[in-house]
Amino acid sequence: MTRTRYARFPDQANRAHPQAVALTPTAVSERRSIFEPRLASLTQIGENRLAARTHHGTVSMNLHEYQAKAIFARMGVPIPSGSVAHSPDEAVAIAQKLGGALWVVKAQIHAGGRGKAGGVKLCRSPAEVRAAALALIGTRLRTHQSGPDGLPVSAVLVEGGSAIAREFYLSLLVDRSRECLSFIASPDGGVEIETVAEEHPDRIVTVPLPSAASGVPGYVVRILAGRLGLPRDLFPSFEKLLAGLQESLLTTDASLIEINPLIMTESGTLIALDAKVTLDDNALFRHPDLAALDDPSQRNPAEEEAERAGLNYVALDGDIACMVNGAGLAMATMDLIQLKGGQPANFLDVGGDATAGRVTQAFHLFRSNPKVRAIFVNIFGGIVRCDLIAEGLITAMREAAPKVPVIVRLEGTRAEEGRHLLSQSGLPIEAIAGLAEAAERAVQAAGGAA
Ligand code: GDP
Ligand code: MN
Repeated sequence: MTRTRYARFPDQANRAHPQAVALTPTAVSERRSIFEPRLASLTQIGENRLAARTHHGTVSMNLHEYQAKAIFARMGVPIPSGSVAHSPDEAVAIAQKLGGALWVVKAQIHAGGRGKAGGVKLCRSPAEVRAAALALIGTRLRTHQSGPDGLPVSAVLVEGGSAIAREFYLSLLVDRSRECLSFIASPDGGVEIETVAEEHPDRIVTVPLPSAASGVPGYVVRILAGRLGLPRDLFPSFEKLLAGLQESLLTTDASLIEINPLIMTESGTLIALDAKVTLDDNALFRHPDLAALDDPSQRNPAEEEAERAGLNYVALDGDIACMVNGAGLAMATMDLIQLKGGQPANFLDVGGDATAGRVTQAFHLFRSNPKVRAIFVNIFGGIVRCDLIAEGLITAMREAAPKVPVIVRLEGTRAEEGRHLLSQSGLPIEAIAGLAEAAERAVQAAGGAA
């Protein structure tokens, strides 16, 4: 790679704090905000998924573990030897080629928590490798991160098994609050970092990089290594690993690289046992090779459809479908629904220029979700005119009438005219003026507070 790429962070050198920041409770909320920009109040509703999806104000692209590890390998980050398999035969062939007496067969899905869900299988013979691959390929794996329907497993990663002495957590990310790259590390690996952050915040360290251009300074290496309690003789290979991670992030325009766990083997070497890479969609245009790694099967079909329709949609677990203009208002609407005791079925920002076509598309999405028991339309007419929105709603409902109550709150430009149109339409729409009242009514219409 060329050094000019580092010019992405031209003014970082003096801004970042060149000291380690031990995570105090305030720092933890700061750290959480890295993943939850502007979403602090959305703790109940699929916050991680929503935060990941809106990470950079856009949908970010995840890689499979085997793809992430291929990048690591190129950048000198040590990984277990292994290869991806699409069939049990292929899995056995890989295991035989690897040799040894212990193998790991890992379901390749865009969600963590596979270990606990049976998606990571330790095998002691090629026959066990075959059985593991057979049990995983072609199924859907449900983990606590995958959503209730799970994600399809079309491939497994077959690796030589490692003897684990210690498990660590290590990540590198674009630290939005500090405006630099930061390493985050914890001696408590193999556990979800959010859990560590909540229960043992003192066991996480965040180390901002003073400059992306100057590599990983020695003091950063020493702070991280010290915090993980690495033996001295591992410092040089740890330094190489950190540099490789930084190189991986910069060359791919990733927003997050996470190794959980990073292990120290019983023979005393460091290995990235797991790998997660989240790419910044905004930079994908200059990485056609990475864009080609996209796996749409790992995304929610409704979200896919929404993306094609130009809607900013995130599926959630509740039963009140929301159609709102503006991301901020959409989030406030979801909060309000929860405050009134309900659960939103989705996040949906129809945009400032909500056309009848988009409104129809939105209704189509709601209809395809069997969980929806009420539809809540909340439009603030700033630039858009409420009467035009009302016309869009009427058209949409004439084309595809929803079978659940529709509650509409129109406010702002030409709201009176909009409400009038709705009431004249003869359609079963409840137009309610106040936001709180409308939210309350939507919760009631969906069957009352949970
Ligand atoms: P995740 O659960 O989706 O995050 O998948 P990981 O790749 O982190 O694997 C889950 C767990 O499986 C790890 O934390 C390890 O405890 C275990 N594991 C994975 N690979 C190996 C291995 O080579 N040897 C051993 N002993 N355990 C492994
Ligand atoms: Mn993991």
